[in-house]
Amino acid sequence: MIKETEGRKRGEEAGERYDYSDGFAARARVSLADPKLRGAVALTSDNKVEVRAQVMMSLKDPEGLQDLAAELRDAVLARLDEHLERLADNWEARGGRVFFAADAAEARDYICSLARKHSARVAVKSKSMASEEIGLNQALAAQGIEAVETDLGEWIVQLAGEHPSHIVTPALHKTKDDVARLFSEVAGERLPEGARALTSFARERLRQKFLDADMGVSGVNFGVSSAGAICTVTNEGNARMCTSLPRIHIALMGMERVVGTWGELGVMLALLGRSATGQKITQYTNVLSGPRRASEIDGPDESHLVILDNGRSRVLGTRYQSALRCIRCGACLNVCPVFRQVGGHAYDPVYSGPIGAVINPLLRDDPQAAELAHASTLCGACTEACPVRIPLHDHLVRLRQDYARKEAGRLEHLAYSSWARAWSSATGFEAFARLNTAVGSMSRFASRKGIPVPFLSRWTKERSLPGFPPSSYRRLRSGVGGLGRRTPESSED
Ligand code: SF4
Repeated sequence: MIKETEGRKRGEEAGERYDYSDGFAARARVSLADPKLRGAVALTSDNKVEVRAQVMMSLKDPEGLQDLAAELRDAVLARLDEHLERLADNWEARGGRVFFAADAAEARDYICSLARKHSARVAVKSKSMASEEIGLNQALAAQGIEAVETDLGEWIVQLAGEHPSHIVTPALHKTKDDVARLFSEVAGERLPEGARALTSFARERLRQKFLDADMGVSGVNFGVSSAGAICTVTNEGNARMCTSLPRIHIALMGMERVVGTWGELGVMLALLGRSATGQKITQYTNVLSGPRRASEIDGPDESHLVILDNGRSRVLGTRYQSALRCIRCGACLNVCPVFRQVGGHAYDPVYSGPIGAVINPLLRDDPQAAELAHASTLCGACTEACPVRIPLHDHLVRLRQDYARKEAGRLEHLAYSSWARAWSSATGFEAFARLNTAVGSMSRFASRKGIPVPFLSRWTKERSLPGFPPSSYRRLRSGVGGLGRRTPESSED
């Protein structure tokens, strides 16, 4: 069996294609040079977008349900401390234990200390982006504990020594041939290439790990504060095995992932399955409320709930708070024209796509993360797809403002403030538009002749500079139309 360390070695041997100390553009170039990756990402994303559109229509009032979900998420975020306290009290009343982790190091230390206390050798994990966020597998490996991912996509990327490239479909960037080659290498023999044979191989290998494991680690899709329960949803049933077979269960939950009641959970589940995978409901919806009772046959001896802050409380009460509504469905990734070209690895090792570009810089103060706000065309497709109405592209614009304030040079400040001044009056805008139209005609002429356009060669290499028809000045003068898509929350700024 391949262990975490061996998977990482495999990743190193593959050449660590993506360098996270480098900029987004450099990583995007790596993806763009790989037609197989681009084909795999586009194929799966297209499929998800199509089935999602069909299954959303099966709802009586999809728009109303999404409005309601956004309201419910906001109501919880407005009283998050109360909900977390209630969840913790109710979980403990049912025999569970709770640990509030201020940051990734505290969460890792707590989980590793539990593993040491129970002399754990093998930990099985069901999919958890929060565990990716805190680097749990590496921490367990450093303690000599084998952490085995049991979600099929997660297991594939673990064996390949890679990070997940999508928050719902971690191995989205891999083709069936890639998986057949990888599994054959692991098996030490050539395996048949059919999906059934490959999944049978995974099932056989993972089943023994479930039986051997001393500890199970799961994510949490939602905590239900009034009931002191947590809910996980999967399509493979692996979360049930991780949470009920080993003696110790540890659930790792981002602190914002709470709902108040069962009714609220119902609203979120109706949207999560549809938005994530185009299913009316995912195959396995588990509700857990503490360890095994005396009268029960199955379940762990100990259930620990680790509630992770790691930068989230910094976002509360700011103009970015609505980003914490996220239910990690991945719909914004599937429709994003940038994600569809470069896949998830070009963004960040943990959260990718539009929501990654928004939350990475909010959760950690890091110029590499802040730069991700530029990995967007601002077309607004992500905002339209989001089932909890997060104004993603508005947040990206705000993050660009923050980035410019901190990182941009004086020349860039001067250029953009002059541009802003020019566009704030109809006369200035018209003058700019006429100049742009003239430059656009010249650049199109130069491109046709293969002459590089000074200062604009990178832009005009792949596209021409758009002109502004005179009708657009007139429309703007009379106040009709706008320069970009805006949502009601835009007026907050
Ligand atoms: S931001 Fe919205 S669309 Fe994107 S993952 Fe979160 S809930 Fe889904």
